[in-house]
Amino acid sequence: MTATSPTKPEARAFAALKVNPCVAALPPYNAGMSLTRARALSGRDDLARLASNENADGCSPAVLAALADGGFEPWRYADPACTALREALADRIGVAAEVIVVGNGSEEMIAAISRAVLVAGTQVVTVVPSFGLHEIEPLAAGASVLKVPMTAAAGFDLTALEAAIAAGPRVVFLSSPWNPVGPALDRPALQRLIDAVPPGTLFVLDEAYFEFSDAPDGIAMLRDSGIAHVVLRTFSKAYGLAGLRVGYAVCSDPELARVIAAAKTPFNVNGAAQRAAIAALADEAWMKASVAGIRAERDRVAAGLAALGLHAAPSQTNFLFFDTGRDSAEVAAALLLEGIIVKPWREKGYESWLRATIGTPAENDRLMVALRKLVAR
Ligand SMILES: *Cc1c(COP(=O)(O)O)cnc(C)c1O
Repeated sequence: MTATSPTKPEARAFAALKVNPCVAALPPYNAGMSLTRARALSGRDDLARLASNENADGCSPAVLAALADGGFEPWRYADPACTALREALADRIGVAAEVIVVGNGSEEMIAAISRAVLVAGTQVVTVVPSFGLHEIEPLAAGASVLKVPMTAAAGFDLTALEAAIAAGPRVVFLSSPWNPVGPALDRPALQRLIDAVPPGTLFVLDEAYFEFSDAPDGIAMLRDSGIAHVVLRTFSKAYGLAGLRVGYAVCSDPELARVIAAAKTPFNVNGAAQRAAIAALADEAWMKASVAGIRAERDRVAAGLAALGLHAAPSQTNFLFFDTGRDSAEVAAALLLEGIIVKPWREKGYESWLRATIGTPAENDRLMVALRKLVAR
């Protein structure tokens, strides 16, 4: 990108334009380093991509077959309501299809919820370290965001969260299992937070890593809670469809689902993605086997890190979050030279923490060998 000189006509034209100040002031979403940039910086092709919590095993072969079998027609608009996928999900989860909204990734549902429920001056509660969009989308809608820090033991601060929720924000965004930290709310903890939700507050539980966890099923717990809520799930992580973009919102009632659906773009989920998600859902055995392998590797890597004196937060996900004891951007830069892409955390107070996705066993070995070299220095 070239910098625009203020004397250029297009810069003067932009200066005269009124843009949405909330959007113009947004912090950038930290999407992690692109493969092209990582190749250029490291001079390597053998990169282990452990920055974005993708599935190390890829996806079910049934998905690839469904995309190749000729049933997908690129020239047709896909069903804007994702009817077949919503029916398959409703069947699997045990809810009515009319409370499900499917998004272009669950990220789009975070945006749609913010657009549907928030207006300028409203309050949102989330946590820090945070999943960037739980802050960015509310800020874009003109809301202000209170972020409750994690405890010294890298857990949810339940007392502080309870108080922040009881104060009656318009929306609460929590991921459990928690990206980027790793732990999940157990049943009593989730119940405590549910009990703190006053009328007028929407409780959004983002369960992007649910399949990797031993956490209670948020959909089942919230269904009987009587509070206004949305549970978010995704095909990006356990099902390995990050590049196709399919996630969904399970809402507390059909009216809420209607308003959230009204806030999305009409043809948000493309035909290939709808087809792939239905095939992925039908091959539950592939997902379960993949998750079992990744969970075993997660334990092995956590033990390996601990042996190096690097203690990771307890994880119910496909990643580990640990304190490097120094600027994690420097650690990430050194790892990149070894061909490993990880995510150094940048939020204030957490700049020494690093998030590493659980990769294939060979990738995980490379991570541990490289960290041993760095720590031994
Ligand atoms: C990865 C992730 C998502 C998923 O995003 P998609 O748009 O479905 O790919 C949502 N929430 C959290 C907390 C995540 O970590």
